[in-house]
Amino acid sequence: MKRIYVLHFTQSNYDKPIVYQLIKNYDLIINILRAVILPRQESYLVLEIEGEEDLINKGLDCLRESQVAVESIRKSVKRNEEICTSCGACTAICPVGALYIERPSMKVLFAPEKCSACGLCVNVCPPRAMEVNF
Ligand code: SF4
Ligand code: SF4
Repeated sequence: MKRIYVLHFTQSNYDKPIVYQLIKNYDLIINILRAVILPRQESYLVLEIEGEEDLINKGLDCLRESQVAVESIRKSVKRNEEICTSCGACTAICPVGALYIERPSMKVLFAPEKCSACGLCVNVCPPRAMEVNF
């Protein structure tokens, strides 16, 4: 299975070799989608993690034991359904197809499990319905 997570680091654990540990100890495939790592400051990584479900869970538990906060991408990227007008502007720019037009209703749907948190949809959305917060 494949999942996307946001990892938050503190001043004391930003330099841990967590990608190496996830690959070596839990046989996971890691794709770094976004990284803001600042020396001695709060930092974050957006990772796509692929592997067996129990190994993913064990790997994430190991990170939590190292005081790395782990949260699903669903918590960081949201769409305000009340103000989205289904204009479609975001569907042309979303690189992973997380925003797409459903036919024949022509409603624009959001599939957060595909989202890579690139943030491109935020500025193209006329009513500012998309939010990306880390
Ligand atoms: S650009 Fe904004 S308003 Fe338009 S479909 Fe996308 S999320 Fe909805
Ligand atoms: S942040 Fe927006 S544009 Fe980027 S992958 Fe997610 S839904 Fe698509």
